[in-house]
Amino acid sequence: MNMDKKERLRSLYKVDEVLQDECLVFFKEKLPYSLVADSVRKEIDLLRDAVIREEGCPPALTDRQIFLDRVIHRIQMASTPSLRRVINATGTILHTNLGRSPLSQKAIEHVIDVSCSYSTLEYDLKTGRRGSRHDHVSGLICQATGAEAAMVVNNNAAATMLVLSSMAEGQEVIVSRGELVEIGGSFRIPDIMSLSGVTLREVGTTNKTHLSDYIRAIDSECTAALMKVHTSNYRIIGFTEDVPLSGLRRLGDQYALPVIYDMGNGLLTDLKGYGIFEPAVSDAMNAGADVVLFSGDKLLGGPQAGIIIGKKKYIEKMKRHPLARVVRIDKMTLSALEAVFFQYQDIERAKQEIPALQMLTCPKEKLYERAVRLRTRLTPDDSSLHMDIEACEDFVGGGSAPDVRLDGWAVTLHSPILTTKQIEYNLRKSQIPVISHISQDKVWLHMRTISDKDMEDIAENVSKLKG
Ligand SMILES: *Cc1c(COP(=O)(O)O)cnc(C)c1O
Repeated sequence: MNMDKKERLRSLYKVDEVLQDECLVFFKEKLPYSLVADSVRKEIDLLRDAVIREEGCPPALTDRQIFLDRVIHRIQMASTPSLRRVINATGTILHTNLGRSPLSQKAIEHVIDVSCSYSTLEYDLKTGRRGSRHDHVSGLICQATGAEAAMVVNNNAAATMLVLSSMAEGQEVIVSRGELVEIGGSFRIPDIMSLSGVTLREVGTTNKTHLSDYIRAIDSECTAALMKVHTSNYRIIGFTEDVPLSGLRRLGDQYALPVIYDMGNGLLTDLKGYGIFEPAVSDAMNAGADVVLFSGDKLLGGPQAGIIIGKKKYIEKMKRHPLARVVRIDKMTLSALEAVFFQYQDIERAKQEIPALQMLTCPKEKLYERAVRLRTRLTPDDSSLHMDIEACEDFVGGGSAPDVRLDGWAVTLHSPILTTKQIEYNLRKSQIPVISHISQDKVWLHMRTISDKDMEDIAENVSKLKG
């Protein structure tokens, strides 16, 4: 080993000495000591390796400030949570990868209030005895949907399983071949059926299923229920036919079979005026389904949950089923759900206050206004970044309304210096990541899914692009 190398190794920073530095005091107070010490150690190790492998003279070796900056950067990286807020500039409202529906302020406040202390989760204040966690929301859900009874579980996939197991285990359930859906994340109706111990009896063809197909499949011994599944994330168009819920209801009455409807979306209000022609929960109840199930975080705009409504005799059986404990809902979810259903009592206010509904129903002019506001904030004083306001198409997402395109407005970015991929990447790796989308060699920031509170963060992230 030459002298120079030995000297350099000897003069490397010492962990204990660096840890005494003023600039780390703040981090030592706020973060676990081991995290800070490990970060210092790792940066020193990197320098040592560089010296041993004789990779020139890294600036951090001789410049203490550069070294400390690297340590601080490492501490910040190690202490940034993995699950964190991002800005959704994709224009897809129920973005499954980005947490589906954001929660309303009121829902969050209720979650905090209930979860920070003890609560009435399973306690009846009137009697001073044990209560049921379902009671907190079932009244509100019945009121909003017109159902006789309700219960809630972790998600709609869990709800499907519980419904099938409790109503048809060891027997057959009849479903149209046109409705054997796969929802992302390996939720497939045939698989859920077999997991629930139910035999799937497929009828009809992919494009056409007639009432007579169901009739032929009904077996007085084996058939436990008729089931309809909403084709949430695809549409069959052209030469098609399916039996509406009311048709299945009549058949159910004729053969004394319950009718189950897996809706996916929990649409509680009419959104036809906004171009969204999804079936509403009240329509399903009116059509006479015995049991209806839907998600809490799709068009309902609440937390991840599975909501089961319908005839009391079926719901009571589900509450007593062993699976109910397996798919039991947590107090945080339950409190968010209670607040959201409370908000639905005033539908016009709900459209303003529940983020998913607010984004869905936001007028185009407002989106344009927002684009102008953002564009004004972003105006750079050089030509390194070009920005325009352009019309775009937004999506409902979450495997809902796949054929609906909402007219929106976007701010687009492109640059003679940076590629669109670099712009997209830089926005994504900012302190508060901005998730955008690339099209036509431009980066698109859709106004529909960003909120007013996101504006400043976007502006700051964009201003750093030029640097
Ligand atoms: C989305 C969906 C599900 C699954 O719901 P999760 O809440 O995501 O578990 C089940 N069935 C249908 C028809 C759906 O659209």
